[in-house]
Amino acid sequence: ELGEWQRTLRAHFPIITAHPELAYLDSAATAQKPQSVLDAVHTYLTTTNANAGRGTYPWANRTTDLVEQARDRVKRFLDDPAPDRSTVHFTSGTTEGLRAVARDWLPGLLADGDEIVVPVADHEANIAPWLEARRHLAARGVHIRVRPMPYQRSSGDYDHTALAELAGPRTRFVAVSHVHHVYGGNMNVHRIRRAVGPDAVICLDAAQSVGHLPVSVADLDVDLVVFSGHKAMALPGTGAVWARQSRGPRFAPGGWSGTPNTVGIASLTAALDWLDTAGTDRIERWTLALTARLTEGLRHLDAYEILGCQKSLAADSSVQRRQGIVTFRHNAVDSGDLGFILFSHGFMVRSDQHCQGGAGERTGSVRVSLHVHNTPEEIDRLLDVLATLG
Ligand code: PMP
Repeated sequence: ELGEWQRTLRAHFPIITAHPELAYLDSAATAQKPQSVLDAVHTYLTTTNANAGRGTYPWANRTTDLVEQARDRVKRFLDDPAPDRSTVHFTSGTTEGLRAVARDWLPGLLADGDEIVVPVADHEANIAPWLEARRHLAARGVHIRVRPMPYQRSSGDYDHTALAELAGPRTRFVAVSHVHHVYGGNMNVHRIRRAVGPDAVICLDAAQSVGHLPVSVADLDVDLVVFSGHKAMALPGTGAVWARQSRGPRFAPGGWSGTPNTVGIASLTAALDWLDTAGTDRIERWTLALTARLTEGLRHLDAYEILGCQKSLAADSSVQRRQGIVTFRHNAVDSGDLGFILFSHGFMVRSDQHCQGGAGERTGSVRVSLHVHNTPEEIDRLLDVLATLG
């Protein structure tokens, strides 16, 4: 029943329909843009382009409004009904967003002797800023403890038992990713909340979930959400941080003293409109079905190991649920070579170590990441090519 819906949506992506011989399987790196986003960029630049926050004429006023309304758009997309729009802060992406949290937001939360919990095998962007924050705080005489939160490689999820043991009365802040960018697992934020209690601040790296599945701050009970607009179909150089109103905005407000990425923000509004109209719940169902098809196919090919996945478990069991990201390696073919071979058949994948931080994978692998424009036929063709290699 989703097939018709998907065919209509696939036609919205000009770069996809222009290249039927290619399959874009790298949406976790950056997403392709639907026509309405391209139109919003064109319209803004040809009718309105001006600087924001210093308007004495209509284009400038409209640009200021566009930025303010985009804050409301982000809040609505994340299911936050609170009225204060100053809790949305625009950035160039998740990396800058997490840095902004560490630099502007976190110091106000922490006191001497507090603890923060940092995941050891997340994306580098979700590890380095917290370690830097500890250094900066120490220079001011505030000593915090960093507690490393381990993963279970076999399930591709956080080790929730270890987390429950790590968390204590001084745990103030926990950094977690929502969907892991290598294992593809949905990292079970509810269990993390239960482990750390209601008062700890949970900061969600939603780079791989916003645009792919419904992200509701009401449901997830998190305090900060950081994401990349470009992975959610907006232009490169866009992103946002959302903070729960009761936790306060605490970001350097900018005071309109610098020039925001106005055209990027216009594209973000259009992208969130497109995603809401398409329905993130349906996008999730579509990509989960494709992911299950791919993992199921790979499980029958002996030469491949799927990272964070036990071959013996059913592809659709809850532990094995990949959110549109499947990373694997071949037991004899180098992952760089595999990426090259796949491209010779028209498949664009990512092959390297995927920016994993501290305790991440040390050897290369191939990552396939999916979005709503991908099709079962693409998955079947990919599996056919992989099967020829053993
Ligand atoms: N966190 C995660 C989980 C990611 O997947 C990425 C992008 N690969 C980032 C952070 C960094 O995002 P950006 O490059 O947009 O800053």
